[in-house]
Amino acid sequence: PMPTPAAPLLDPFALAKALSGYHFIGGGYVPGRNGKNFAVVNPATGQQVAEAAEGDAADVEAAVQNAAKAQKEWAKLPARKRGALVHQCAALLKEHQEELAKLIALETGKALRTESRVEAGVVADIFEFFGGLGSELKGESVPFAPNVLSVTVREPLGVVGAIIPWNVPMLLMALKVAPALVAGNSVVVKSAEEAPLAVLRICELMNRILPPGVFNMLSGFGPECGAPLVSHPLVRKVTFTGSVETGKIVARAAAEKLVPVTLELGGKSPMIVFADCDFEKTVAGALTSMRFTRQGQSCTAASRIYVERPIFDRFVTAMKDAVNKMVMGDPLDEKTDIGTIVSEGQLQKVKAFIEEGTKTPGATAHVCSAMPSDPALKKGLFIQPVIFTGLTKESRLVREEIFGPVTVIAPFDDPESVLAEANDSEYGLAASLWTNNLKVGLDLAHRLEAGLVQINQNLVVQANLSYGGVKSSGLGKEASLEAMLEHFTHKKTIMVNMA
Ligand code: NAD
Repeated sequence: PMPTPAAPLLDPFALAKALSGYHFIGGGYVPGRNGKNFAVVNPATGQQVAEAAEGDAADVEAAVQNAAKAQKEWAKLPARKRGALVHQCAALLKEHQEELAKLIALETGKALRTESRVEAGVVADIFEFFGGLGSELKGESVPFAPNVLSVTVREPLGVVGAIIPWNVPMLLMALKVAPALVAGNSVVVKSAEEAPLAVLRICELMNRILPPGVFNMLSGFGPECGAPLVSHPLVRKVTFTGSVETGKIVARAAAEKLVPVTLELGGKSPMIVFADCDFEKTVAGALTSMRFTRQGQSCTAASRIYVERPIFDRFVTAMKDAVNKMVMGDPLDEKTDIGTIVSEGQLQKVKAFIEEGTKTPGATAHVCSAMPSDPALKKGLFIQPVIFTGLTKESRLVREEIFGPVTVIAPFDDPESVLAEANDSEYGLAASLWTNNLKVGLDLAHRLEAGLVQINQNLVVQANLSYGGVKSSGLGKEASLEAMLEHFTHKKTIMVNMA
């Protein structure tokens, strides 16, 4: 019997407890083989809310063997039938949206109203979109020679190993699992150690609809659980979202056994604001993209904002005013705009960047919003958002991904110089341009080195639009039909000599 209820459980503390200590393998909850668990902590209070199984190579072996066996039968189902089942999962996830939103808020500290509910909604949307694509797994007939019929067919790769981070774990998992399943693969996911619970619940919910073994979930640490998954001989595709550093380790391990790998890595996304922009909409766009509501823990965050000199001061003031209005507090409280940083380690990393920026000669740190006053939150991992001005392009704060509520605003004088500065980065995930001069906007959009460029908007990932970075921000694409075909199938050619 499942230790968790079938109906939505809206008390996230009770749900976290019920999910404690399990992987999900072969259609059921399974405790870790080594009996070891690690603590899952509520970052708003510092209190332990659950334990997660500390997976190792033995758990990986069990999960991959189950997945490999299940994949053979799964691939025999008509693609439209697989899609229909994934679509049904989307409906079930919608029914559980509020439950999942509360659970993710509890384990990551992301505010329920501004962030967690949104993520839970997008997850269902991603499964719905890919669920409709079963009939698109088509090949082609290629004229080759008289009397030879040559056709291509799309075949699944086998077992997919997926590794995800903690910032938007449900969404990033869905971008991997949904297309992999519809394409006829089975999946083993290794969740992020900071956020193992909500994805485990999703896995269980979907297993009520999917055949057992097709979708498996392991929790644990990178070297002990992620690494053996990546190098398991039966894992025929690796898909990873996380830091550049780990991405390189994962890519090397995948290269050892020559399996394809998709990498979605970090970013230092520039936002370029021209004086002729629609001012209010641009400030709102900067806030959306910078995601102070998620304490800046977003890979596409507008962490370098370049503003044309005539409106620079006005823009900085407007940004400060807007962030000052945001309420920091308990992530589960509907009044809260900004929640916490995910972990103590991340908090220290972000604080070190802020300290370095504050000490830089010529720089000004505009500290915004107010720390929560509730004594129950005194051990919470809160940090006040900081807007920096006066930093030069040599600063580590301008060059490196901070992954916290810190953005740098700098003035510029002409399009060519700002383009050069924007492209002077090892990253190339996203960029945005704000202007009513589409001639300038389109010209720069073509020349910006980024996987995603938006003009006059800063929207998040859309399931049907290709997404992924260039340079150190990644390899390969996620979302979209094209990503499913390119990254989760191979194209087999069959030739028939009819002479
Ligand atoms: P991370 O690289 O530390 O960890 C990511 C995952 O990799 C975790 O599940 C971790 O356990 C696992 N891992 C660690 N070592 C491993 C190993 N040796 N082998 C296999 N797996 C291993 O990243 P993080 O701190 O969790 O996430 C933040 C990073 O993710 C940021 O750099 C951010 O920009 C990036 N990110 C990118 C995107 C994108 O779509 N491009 C989206 C979100 C986050």
